[in-house]
Amino acid sequence: MFYCRICHSVNTHLFLSLGTTPLANGFLSADQLNDPEPCYPLDMYFCSSCGLVQVGYVVPPEVMFRNYIYVSSTSDTLPVHFADYANEIAERFILSGDDWVAEIGSNDGCLLKGFRKHNIRTLGIEPATNIAKIARDNGVETLNDFFCERVAKAVRAEKGPAKVLIGNNVLAHIGDLPDVLAGLDIILKPDGVAVFEVPYLVDLMEKLEFDTAYHEHLSYFSVGALQNLFKLSRMRLFDIKREKVHGGTIRVYACRENASYSRQPAVDQLIALERERGLESLEAFLTFGEQVRQLKKDLVDLLRNLRSRGARLAGYGAPAKGNTLLNYLDIGTDLLDYIVDKSPHKQGLYTPGMHIPVLPVDKLLSDQPDFVLLLAWNFADEIFRQQKQYIDQGGAFIVPAPSPRIVPENREGQYLSRLSASGKA
Ligand SMILES: [Zn+2]
Repeated sequence: MFYCRICHSVNTHLFLSLGTTPLANGFLSADQLNDPEPCYPLDMYFCSSCGLVQVGYVVPPEVMFRNYIYVSSTSDTLPVHFADYANEIAERFILSGDDWVAEIGSNDGCLLKGFRKHNIRTLGIEPATNIAKIARDNGVETLNDFFCERVAKAVRAEKGPAKVLIGNNVLAHIGDLPDVLAGLDIILKPDGVAVFEVPYLVDLMEKLEFDTAYHEHLSYFSVGALQNLFKLSRMRLFDIKREKVHGGTIRVYACRENASYSRQPAVDQLIALERERGLESLEAFLTFGEQVRQLKKDLVDLLRNLRSRGARLAGYGAPAKGNTLLNYLDIGTDLLDYIVDKSPHKQGLYTPGMHIPVLPVDKLLSDQPDFVLLLAWNFADEIFRQQKQYIDQGGAFIVPAPSPRIVPENREGQYLSRLSASGKA
């Protein structure tokens, strides 16, 4: 039992334990493989008072975020998403010459770059020292810090209040949510708008995206929980957009309670959807926990079965969520020979916990493994397109959730007939 991160009640209920695991972004170099790896409990709780889903144990942020390895521009899909995003914010909310845009967790400046063509001033606030430097090298003004009440005061004193504050996939990473809400209250103009993108709890539940749980993701938001969060600073949600990125995301727009933005129908539509899915009570989460345990069994059985028949298996993508899946399912080099990833920041390293080597993507074509477990499933379509040659040459992907399936569908049968033809089956 612990205190809820939004409402501080003790009505928090454990519904899924993913074990004790190392940090999902804690990739290791070869000479670190024999060092002890710090591990932390990864347990998911539901607060029946405010609706927030959260992990119980909070790793100190200094440990998690000072050297974050994810750089968003390595994906092909996200830059287009961010360009549209910047255009929308500029056209909808930037009305006068002194309106400016702040972004917290601004990463490599991928989104803020999009405001240049609109001649809008921006400031990124990014806690990871190495990534803040990349942003500055890209010409995006970036403060290397965690956003909080103290930082909001300092920024406002220097630049004046902001019209828009954006945070993409950042709210989930914050341990002290009330401190961030206090900062919002300070940094925003009276008619200022906060725009946050968060993975949507409805998608997580529906698609069994349990692997999006890791220590860096402290909170998993429903619209209901977000409404309770914004109330902490006397703010309200006035619009929401549902999007496909990262397996299902919502972009929520919040303003002060007395601001003039009118509440759009999407807010109440999603609240109704959440009620229909039972997300206001523990029952739905206990069922989710059961489904995840079944998925674990089914996927491990499939991989072991293929492996026992001599199949060569690899993994695609080394995202943080891949490490939740590998550690929870206890999948190591006994099942996957290696993982390939496009990011040069990860190639040559080993996955935390299971110590699977991460290699460049062209290894798939030179090695042609029989099956590839798709760990970066949020980029599935993009990856299938890029790996057309691997698939055309007889390769196949295993998509883990909501239940394990092989793409293309007929490949398992083809593999088994190849085996019997060669007398190995
Ligand atoms: Zn709560």
